[in-house]
Amino acid sequence: MNKSKFFILIIILIHTSELMSQKIDIDILQGKTTNHLVGDSILLEKETFKAFEKMKREAFNDGIRIKIVSGHRDFERQTLIWNSKFLKFTEEYKLKPEEAINEIVRFSTVPGTSRHHWGTEIDIIDEEFKNEKNPLITEKYEAGGVFNKLKRWMDLNSKKFGFYLTYTNDEQRKGFEYEPWHYSYKPISKNFLEEFKKNNISKLILDLDIMGKEYLTKEFIEKYINENILSVNKELEL
Ligand SMILES: [Zn+2]
Repeated sequence: MNKSKFFILIIILIHTSELMSQKIDIDILQGKTTNHLVGDSILLEKETFKAFEKMKREAFNDGIRIKIVSGHRDFERQTLIWNSKFLKFTEEYKLKPEEAINEIVRFSTVPGTSRHHWGTEIDIIDEEFKNEKNPLITEKYEAGGVFNKLKRWMDLNSKKFGFYLTYTNDEQRKGFEYEPWHYSYKPISKNFLEEFKKNNISKLILDLDIMGKEYLTKEFIEKYINENILSVNKELEL
């Protein structure tokens, strides 16, 4: 090998190793940028978007019209959700702040820790019943429910396209409750979770400016990280 070929090889090797160890920007993981996203009203991470379009076409051929009701959600929107739930639970339902927080994290996340920030997560319904009020109710996806046809199609086909349920009804799983409408695009989200775990998540939570923050104890944060962030469908980690 001559000298110039040798140097080209070295440059290629350095470049490849940089790509392989490329760190995902924390702003992407916390919903503070939309640079990696595509779409109009619903934004998705680029590869997720492509895979979803494929899946949607195949479902359409089988007579199912998949509609996303929630894709990417940004940090500010998640903060609004958190604050409005906190106010509702403490003022309207008269819960103690600690109880309100435990109630919020049954279905909603602490801002900056939502997988919806990533653009790899989708909440879906069947377009045929798009006018359904409060569509995201577990029973609606079960036998006899309006979205059961969609759910059965997803059970058979979604993995072929890379989409897995995130919050399964596995009794061993802790954290968020069963969400039969919420899917994750594993080829990208697997890596995103690995990268997110490398951060000091505790500190990210303690640095937040959200309602009820003073009630986020060390114990709560530890449990939240272990159960709500890390306890997802095991298949998403394989
Ligand atoms: Zn969701």
